[in-house]
Parts: sequence; C-alpha cells; structure tokens
Amino acid sequence: MTGWNRTRNGALVALFAAVMVMGTSCTTIGRLTPPRPAPTGTVLRAFVFPVAGTATFGDTFGAPRSGGRSHEGQDLAAAKHTPVVAAADGTVTSLTWSATGLSGNALTITDAAGWQYVYIHLDNDAPGTDDGSNVYERAFADGIARGQKVKAGEVVGWVGDSGNAETTVPHLHFELHQPGGLAVNSYGSLLAARKFQRTEAERVGDSPFGGVDAVSRAGDGSVRVAGWAIDAHVNDAVKVSVYVGGNPVATSSAAGSRPDLAGPYPGRGVLHGYSMTGIAATAGTRVCVVAHSVGGGGSARLGCTTAP
Ligand SMILES: [Zn+2]
Repeated sequence: MTGWNRTRNGALVALFAAVMVMGTSCTTIGRLTPPRPAPTGTVLRAFVFPVAGTATFGDTFGAPRSGGRSHEGQDLAAAKHTPVVAAADGTVTSLTWSATGLSGNALTITDAAGWQYVYIHLDNDAPGTDDGSNVYERAFADGIARGQKVKAGEVVGWVGDSGNAETTVPHLHFELHQPGGLAVNSYGSLLAARKFQRTEAERVGDSPFGGVDAVSRAGDGSVRVAGWAIDAHVNDAVKVSVYVGGNPVATSSAAGSRPDLAGPYPGRGVLHGYSMTGIAATAGTRVCVVAHSVGGGGSARLGCTTAP
C-alpha cells in the first residue's frame, strides 16, 4: 500500500533469496518483517468463552455482509448443539425465539457493569436433522427466558444455524457491546477468554427443587398443572414455567400456600405452591415444569409427564 511497505517488501524478497542461497535460518527474516498489529488484538473485557466446546474463528469484525451491513461480531464455528454458556454473571435482557430473520434464535446477557453479550443463530433443529422445527428447548437451556439471572459458565443454549445461518455451517455469532450499546471487536477478548462451564453439581446446587403433583384435564378441555417449588438459597417465590412439547406456554409464581411443606422443609415458609390452568395440550403431549433459579446458576426441571 505505501511506498515504505513496497520498499520493505521488495527488500525482504531480495534478502529472503539471499538467505536461501546462504542456507541461513529463517529466524533472521522474522525480525525484518514490517511491524504488524499483535495477533492477539486488544482485550476489552475479561469473560468466559461463550462456547463450551471446540470452536474455530478468525477476526471477521467489520467484514461486509448482505444488505450493506458490516459484521458486528465474531462467528464461532462449532458442532450443532454444542453448549453455549453465559460469558459473565448477568441477566438475560432480551430473547428472541424465531427461526427466521437475520438472527434467528438469539439472546442477550447484560452484566452488572452494562456490558452486553449477544448470542445469535441458536439451534432450531431436531437432533441429527436440519428440519427447522424450532422447539424452544433445542435453542435455550431450561429456565432461560427474558429477565432470568445467569452465572458465568452456566449453559444458556446451544449452537445452531437459525436465521440467515441456515445456509452456512452451524456457528455462534457472538457480539460484545460496551455499556451504552456500541458493538466492539471481541476478537482479542475471545482469544484471551477463560474456558469454563459450570459443573452439573454446581447447577444442581443453585437450582430450585420441588415437584409436579398433578397434571389433569379440566372440564373445559384444558390442562391444569399443580405442584410446588423452593429456591436453593432464598425463600422468595420461585417462577415456574410449563413446557408443552418442549415449548414454554405458561409461567406463574409459585407463591400459593402449601402448609404441608412446613414439616419436610422447616424454616422455608409455606408460600411455594403453584397451580396453572387453561393450558392447551393434546393428550399424549409431553408436559414439563421448569423452576427458574432466583439468583441464577441453573434451573430445574421439576418433572415431566404426558398430558392425559
Ligand atoms: Zn456472524
């Protein structure tokens, strides 16, 4: 590009030829190479690497994309359904469940300092297929919803090819936004990122516990689901969601009176019951109840059964 570079490159070629003739080590040439940016780039933020598994990527931030856009993230190529984990402790501040559009299934985690970690193209296919069936639980881990607190290394979803990634290899499109929203190049931070996935024991330790006492068919044809849930750490009411066929269809707060829990769980209070009515579920469909961790770190599947 510049005259300086041309001169240096020209000189380098000439030197290289001379060195080859002399049979000298190539390390000499390395020191004469024109200065370039450090390959590690700039570390902007220390966080957990968002893919919990083998992922390959180069620096494509700012590369041209369709419609005159420029690439605002990094594409981390990984096998379909590789877990993606929370890059930091934070809250799920947006979540899109849609296989169409540019992004497809996507979520954003915002940490306490306001940095945002954006996950795009989460899985929308049944195992071993590219069927686009887009069942929620294939894209997002149990309990992951807008407003959910998460802890660094917690599985929040899975790599896929939803959105405009359908015609490419499965990958996580990952974006880093600084407080205020500006997307910044995460390449250096990703190279330096710690690889960490919370263990199953840690997840269970942070997960609510409880049960599903009844899944019954009401007179109007809808299904009623009832049970109880207690958070691992606090006595606050636990949010519970009913999944039908792998998709969340109803959410409630488990805050109903359950005096029978006072004996087995002393000191935890009695306001832990839930009862959700009016749920549409055809007979034989899988019905599950998920309890959302109050403080993050993991959520629990309280039970699954088939609709009567
Ligand atoms: Zn991308």
